[in-house]
Amino acid sequence: MTTTLDTRDLPAGDPRWDAFRTLLEEQRSDCVREREAALEECAQSVPDPVAQRRSASLSDTITAIDEALARIAAGSYGSCVHCGATIPDERLELRPHAGACVSCTDRR
Ligand SMILES: [Zn+2]
Repeated sequence: MTTTLDTRDLPAGDPRWDAFRTLLEEQRSDCVREREAALEECAQSVPDPVAQRRSASLSDTITAIDEALARIAAGSYGSCVHCGATIPDERLELRPHAGACVSCTDRR
């Protein structure tokens, strides 16, 4: 595990989410790695706008993953952060860091 996030201090949360937590932690370390690569490209004398956008969007994803991990610890994972509706497992499997249900996401 190359992630810098220390999840040992967090309560384990519902064991139902163990698989999602593992998935989120894997995705997080992938994002961190990709972001570092993108940031290296940004550090060139002529910054690459594509790499800049990429590193910004990876930062957003990392934040979303951290929030999802915090929701698992807090016991609110799997419920929409806006309306409280249960987020279907199929959606979480596709986007484990999703915090909003489909209808709330579509409304935004
Ligand atoms: Zn919702």
